Amino acid sequence: MPGIPKNTKTENERTLNFWERLYLPEIFKGLAYSFRKMIREPSYTTEYPDELWEPPDSYRGRPVLVEEEGKPRCVSCNLCAKACPPMAISMQSKEVDDPNSSKEREPAWFEINMLRCIYCGFCEEVCPEEAIVMSKEYDLTFQDRDEAIFGLDRLLVPSERLTDRLEYLEESRNQQENEEPWQHRKDNNLHSLRDREYVQDLAEHQMPTLKNTHLRSEQPIASENTWEGRPPSDHG
Ligand code: SF4
Ligand code: SF4
Repeated sequence: MPGIPKNTKTENERTLNFWERLYLPEIFKGLAYSFRKMIREPSYTTEYPDELWEPPDSYRGRPVLVEEEGKPRCVSCNLCAKACPPMAISMQSKEVDDPNSSKEREPAWFEINMLRCIYCGFCEEVCPEEAIVMSKEYDLTFQDRDEAIFGLDRLLVPSERLTDRLEYLEESRNQQENEEPWQHRKDNNLHSLRDREYVQDLAEHQMPTLKNTHLRSEQPIASENTWEGRPPSDHG
């Protein structure tokens, strides 16, 4: 009937005795257990920020760019920006003028909006150059939104300070037993390095299809064809 509360007690429910209905003995039992643990067990907490926590190498802190000899390792391929779920990465590429450089492009500017970053590590996962990696930094604070947009000045970290993470990546990417060690940078960056000897070797011995893609003539070949894409002789 409306207005009369329904008794939801099941038939098999245990009836509490007097002390159990007081609840106090159970509360004191719980407190005694906590005090025993406090005194006898080692402490699992640290006195942050006086005592900083050192994360393991597998930890995903803020993403940083690897700097080698004062320059970003990044070849500005834009893959990390495409893979970033919250679209936190922006960049602009520029050509490298130095003919001795192994790179064709590098970032003119590169930014990560740390208010958007969710520390997922996808950028690190897709980067063919191991040029962006997750660091061990976790205590970021900002006074305003602009301060949270990190440019090259705050993103670049010398590779010597990132050896833990780079070694961890190499180890985790070579988990297969009895397999040739996978050199992530070399095996991935055919598109970006001018290492034509290596590509030639691959095309001759392992990947013949590379001849049509990576080993095209340095000169343009379009002028040899009609605009329909067939050599003039085909027209008769
Ligand atoms: S860690 Fe994830 S969210 Fe952060 S920049 Fe990289 S891809 Fe984007
Ligand atoms: S994926 Fe790597 S090489 Fe490509 S733009 Fe991002 S950081 Fe640079």
